[in-house]
Amino acid sequence: MEKKKKIGLTTKIFIALIAGALTGVILYFAPENKVINDYFINGLFYIVGNGFIRLMQMLVVPLVLCSIVCGSAAIGDTKTLGKVGVRTLLFYVLTTALAVAVAILVANIINPGVGVNITNVEQVETTIGESSSFSETILDIIPTNPLESLATGSMLQIIFFALLLGVILAKLGERVETVTNFFAQFNSIMMEMTTIVMQVAPIGVFCLIARTFATLGFDMFIPMLKYMAAVLSALGVQCFIVYLGLLKVFTGLNPIKFIKKFLPVMGFAFSTATSNATIPMSIDTLEKEMGVAKRISSFTIPLGATINMDGTAIMQGVAVVFTAQIFGITLGMPEYITVIATATLASIGTAGVPGVGLITLSMVFSSIGLPVAGIGYIMGIDRILDMTRTAVNITGDAVCTTIVANQNKALDKEKYNK
Ligand code: ASP
Repeated sequence: MEKKKKIGLTTKIFIALIAGALTGVILYFAPENKVINDYFINGLFYIVGNGFIRLMQMLVVPLVLCSIVCGSAAIGDTKTLGKVGVRTLLFYVLTTALAVAVAILVANIINPGVGVNITNVEQVETTIGESSSFSETILDIIPTNPLESLATGSMLQIIFFALLLGVILAKLGERVETVTNFFAQFNSIMMEMTTIVMQVAPIGVFCLIARTFATLGFDMFIPMLKYMAAVLSALGVQCFIVYLGLLKVFTGLNPIKFIKKFLPVMGFAFSTATSNATIPMSIDTLEKEMGVAKRISSFTIPLGATINMDGTAIMQGVAVVFTAQIFGITLGMPEYITVIATATLASIGTAGVPGVGLITLSMVFSSIGLPVAGIGYIMGIDRILDMTRTAVNITGDAVCTTIVANQNKALDKEKYNK
């Protein structure tokens, strides 16, 4: 019964994605109509779509806090926790560096910027925000006021505080039983809330996609087609060859099963372009469908959604090659190595919300002296790539989580293979 219901939701999200995209494209090409514009595109679709994102966002902070507290309390000893943490971080950083290398390679095969006549591409006004320095980013992990971190949703600070809290709960044991139980029960409530909110996912996804496609700038697509093809190809390589290969090598599990079961989460990430909002759905799917224990995923998924952005790093790698080509700048090995290093750092600094990858791209461009104004050329078509790279970002987190869970005997293989 339970299984039947789940398959129903997956299919519904998938149908919603396709139907939404079709509706959006039809509306885009349909003659200008005030009723459709005001009541549907900017009315119903906007309210329902964004209402759904807000519902998911509403879950994030309380869910992350409770589940990390419970997760680290369950792991208990700091040694195991440290081992999980170090492995996860290592995996995240290495896959990101690999992702940039894949991007540079693919971009040098497709040569997206060769032959692009920049006068044909409408340049979008660039107002790139400042990205913060490395030392600030590190210091920022320690909250000066944990309540403020919760109120503002500062993910790394919440993770830091929740980990400490969990470890101390485990250490004090029976003396703090009431508080431990409170977090455990609140955690169950948040998981139930996630399940309920996910029931409306197909409607939310339909509205989000329909509106996005109805308002996309399709005219820019043609001159930018090669750039888009390069980003999408590199994303495909990372997702289907690198991730699934790593999953097979490290766990011996069937990677096709992974993709099939994870597809609705990818669809959700695609329609929202927000890694952060995907956290509850990822944890839930990994637990119920793949058998990944929450004591691992509750820590690795929010961490990944905050610092592990392989898809974003891929866009940045391709953007570097593209911009260098349209400006006629030749890049060599030293520049590429710098790009791999800075894009990996930029990925850590990119927040899991729409469009931030473009802001941190300025840091990558500056590191090798590329004109930051080049970002203006790719801005116009970034939304569709943002959606796709977000799906890859969260898939990387889930693959790492499954591998780390397997290494820590926190993976129910029977459930995974079901
Ligand atoms: N939208 C991406 C995410 O949330 C971040 C980005 O690349 O802009 O994962």
